[in-house]
Amino acid sequence: MKACTKCTKDKPLAEFYKRSDTGKPHSWCKKCKHQSGKEWNAKAQGMARTPEYRAYIDAKVRCDNPNDQKYSWYGARGIEFKFDSFNEFYAELGERPKGNYSLDRIDNDGNYEVGNIRWATKTEQMLNRRDYDKPWLAGNNFNAKTYEIKHPSGVVSLVKNMADFCRRYGLDKANLHTSIKTGWKHRGYSAQHV
Ligand SMILES: [Zn+2]
Repeated sequence: MKACTKCTKDKPLAEFYKRSDTGKPHSWCKKCKHQSGKEWNAKAQGMARTPEYRAYIDAKVRCDNPNDQKYSWYGARGIEFKFDSFNEFYAELGERPKGNYSLDRIDNDGNYEVGNIRWATKTEQMLNRRDYDKPWLAGNNFNAKTYEIKHPSGVVSLVKNMADFCRRYGLDKANLHTSIKTGWKHRGYSAQHV
């Protein structure tokens, strides 16, 4: 006889599975093992419908599947998905906060890996984009209004210093300001308040 450490009942050894490595019986009886397996599966199935699991799968696919629409921005750029399991991913990231949060990488050129993922709002993510032109946001007028300027290529810059930005890209500041009011493009650039 052997006591199951889960249900604490004394049971014959035949009621315990043997470990494949050592050949010794498990500490939980067969019944407890089955029960625990069922609970785990139910939990996993419930988890599969959560935003956390969705984020896990989507990110993995963006990095690993060349047929995915977003692969060119991820896998093709060398961004790797380094979590081996959902559990590992979830342990790092935690539950998605209420609100408009989605998965983000802290270093935008870094991998999906421990230390580099978080939940962030769209605004937080935009501030963190690799095409975010930091020089325009820096400078001495940090309290100035922020503009979102879309380049002809589709890249978006967050800009506080419009004069600097226009000098660099050969644009006319007044015309770019007009774009904010009218929605017209100035040399393919459009601007709006954030
Ligand atoms: Zn048991």
